[in-house]
Amino acid sequence: MSLHFTEPAKKHLGQNFLHDHGVIDKIVQAIAPRPGDVIVEIGPGQGALTFPLLKKHGEITAIEFDRDLHAPLQAAAQAHGVLHLIEGDVLAVDFTALAAARGDAQGQIRLAGNLPYNLSSPILFHALDHAGAIRDMHFMLQKEVVERMAAGPGSKVYGRLSVMLQAYCTVTPLFVVPPGAFRPAPKVDSAVVRMVPLPPERIVVRNRGTFAAVVRAAFGQRRKTLRNALQGVAESAQIEAAGLRVEARAEQVEVAGFVHLANLLHNAPPNAL
Ligand code: SAM
Repeated sequence: MSLHFTEPAKKHLGQNFLHDHGVIDKIVQAIAPRPGDVIVEIGPGQGALTFPLLKKHGEITAIEFDRDLHAPLQAAAQAHGVLHLIEGDVLAVDFTALAAARGDAQGQIRLAGNLPYNLSSPILFHALDHAGAIRDMHFMLQKEVVERMAAGPGSKVYGRLSVMLQAYCTVTPLFVVPPGAFRPAPKVDSAVVRMVPLPPERIVVRNRGTFAAVVRAAFGQRRKTLRNALQGVAESAQIEAAGLRVEARAEQVEVAGFVHLANLLHNAPPNAL
């Protein structure tokens, strides 16, 4: 740890600081910053990823909530490059506005970070809200969360997170990171994942709200058949019109099946039948 940082790790902020240089190098290599990229790091902490990224790239924007880390981060960053520190909650940062103001030549940013695990899902859904402004994302998360994100139909861990993310992004697990790579060591394995938002022409969801409602209802009671789980959301005739079996369970349905049903419902809500 650098002399600038004297505060102990704060559990409630999900602070598990990376100290394994092999892992840090692998993450920086996975991100592979190129000239002109605008990299935005979520939760720089004590700079474990920030400073190597700064050394390689020269300029980084980072968003950190813990005010005790702001001054030490700024001080330590000076030796490495230009750090634009956004002091606050990542969930309050409008990535679309940030990309418009400070993005690359295409008006996009690249997100990266060893995320606070207690906020993983809210951060992923927040990023999805701004997918058009994001070129790609490289995140460290709990291994179990990465497995859920990347799972396909038939898997025990295929669920709402898998379907919501895969409708908008390609999700690629990269490598597993053991607890010993962090201080303090978390109780679980971690993994690094890459997500690349699909280009607008490949996003086929017509209405995000309808899609989210269908997926939430379908997996809300994952042991039930679609006919029962989707009561009040879709009628049996609509489920069948979307090419799905009413006796199927959500965990058997492909992402495209949910998209198809949500698009059909968007055009003709259940009570319009
Ligand atoms: N990047 C550092 C590393 O790898 O050692 C720190 C990672 S630590 C797992 C997560 C970081 O996210 C912490 O620095 C924590 O203070 C920060 N954080 C927690 N909640 C946040 C929020 N809502 N917005 C921005 N940063 C947050």
